[in-house]
Amino acid sequence: MDEHRAEPRGLLERLDEGPVICAEGFLFELERRCYLQAGTFVPEVVLEHPEALAQFHRELVRAGSDVVVAFTYYGHREKLRLIGKEELLEPLNRDALRIAHGVADEVEGERPLVAGNLANSNRYAPGDASAAAEVRAMFEEQAGWALEEDADLLIGETFYHAGEARIALEVMRATGLPTVVTLALPAQGTLLDGVTAEDACRQLEADGADVVGLNCFRGPATTLPVLARIREAVDGHVAALPVPYRTTEQHPTFFGLPDPGCDVVPDGRTFPLALEPLLCNRFEVEAFTREAHELGVGYLGLCCGAAPHFIRSMAETLGRTPPASRYAPDMSRHFAFGDDPSVDRPAEVAGRL
Ligand SMILES: [Zn+2]
Repeated sequence: MDEHRAEPRGLLERLDEGPVICAEGFLFELERRCYLQAGTFVPEVVLEHPEALAQFHRELVRAGSDVVVAFTYYGHREKLRLIGKEELLEPLNRDALRIAHGVADEVEGERPLVAGNLANSNRYAPGDASAAAEVRAMFEEQAGWALEEDADLLIGETFYHAGEARIALEVMRATGLPTVVTLALPAQGTLLDGVTAEDACRQLEADGADVVGLNCFRGPATTLPVLARIREAVDGHVAALPVPYRTTEQHPTFFGLPDPGCDVVPDGRTFPLALEPLLCNRFEVEAFTREAHELGVGYLGLCCGAAPHFIRSMAETLGRTPPASRYAPDMSRHFAFGDDPSVDRPAEVAGRL
């Protein structure tokens, strides 16, 4: 890194000045790009194809993400144990931070922030003290590596138990770095330990979280009503990173979304391999961004299903012109649908296509 380069503004300084965009969704996109296996969902791409991960980071930054999130989602001891590769745990965590820094340092001008990342362990169970201790130890080692690798902030995400989120926050706060904690709200409408999202966020804020909110599981339509309640419940910064899928009141999360237009999906379950027809389009992402921002949500992004064009829509909706806006759509010169005088007889063609 260039030692003469000015330090970037920190997370809280940026949030005080306006919205911050944080693109996530590495697991889904790298699976679609065939660098990661669905099912176990361990981010081995960090070690096996770092160039592919760096390229995706680069695309998201170019589209407007202010944060490069180190891909350590599910890079915890429990997952590595599941695939019998615990010895890769520390290299994976350290390399993920280094790859994120490498991409951040490529940016001219103020560089994006680099975030360390903790996530749902799938080990936590309410009232189980030994599981809680195990989870805390997993978080401590990850947060420690992120701190040693110079993370600018720490994100704890996709917690579907309030209790686990509180453990993650306590561990993250011990590093002294700014903290973001986002919850994944199950279809039942409360976290699995029975706490509402707004109560959990209120508690996390009282515990000292700098940013609280929601990520994953829910699409824009079923995230927005909960966000409004969270905004009411807390005083500080609120985060929203839904999945860009068309979830509904009847099917509030992407785990249960049906696809009535398709009958060849094995066992009919569209999650996670057949969700494409249920994706939002960029205009829906734009509408979500506007509504969430008007609600007072200042930390915005997308989770599983995110792609650069969605992040660019988000950035442009917030009044930004990221480098990727160089190729923002301009349909005025489309051969059939354009209205620019340079386009020959578009009306005659358009009606017959
Ligand atoms: Zn997600």
